[in-house]
Amino acid sequence: MTAEHTVKDPVCGMSVNPHSAEHRSEHGGKTWYFCSSGCKSKFDGDPGHYLSGEQKQDEPVAPGTMYTCPMHPEIRQQGPEIALSVVWPWSPSR
Ligand SMILES: [Zn+2]
Repeated sequence: MTAEHTVKDPVCGMSVNPHSAEHRSEHGGKTWYFCSSGCKSKFDGDPGHYLSGEQKQDEPVAPGTMYTCPMHPEIRQQGPEIALSVVWPWSPSR
C-alpha cells in the first residue's frame, strides 16, 4: 500500500481513493467520490448541504475564539460547591 492521493467523501468524511472509487457524482464542475452507494445517494439528494458543510471547515477560525472542552464539562463547575459541604465544628442546640 502506498500513500496515494485521496479525496474526502463529502458525506461521511472518509478518505476515498479516486482511482478505485466506484461511486462518484458530478456536481459544480467537480467530481465527488464516495465510499459507498449510500453516501452517493445522500449527496445526490442534497449536494448543497454537504458542500456547504465542507466549506465551513476550511474557514479560518477567528482569533480569540473560545472553545469549551466537550470531554470535561465539569471544569466549569469548580468553585462554590465545596462551601455547601462545610460542616460546622459546633452544634447549635441549647
Ligand atoms: Zn461515505
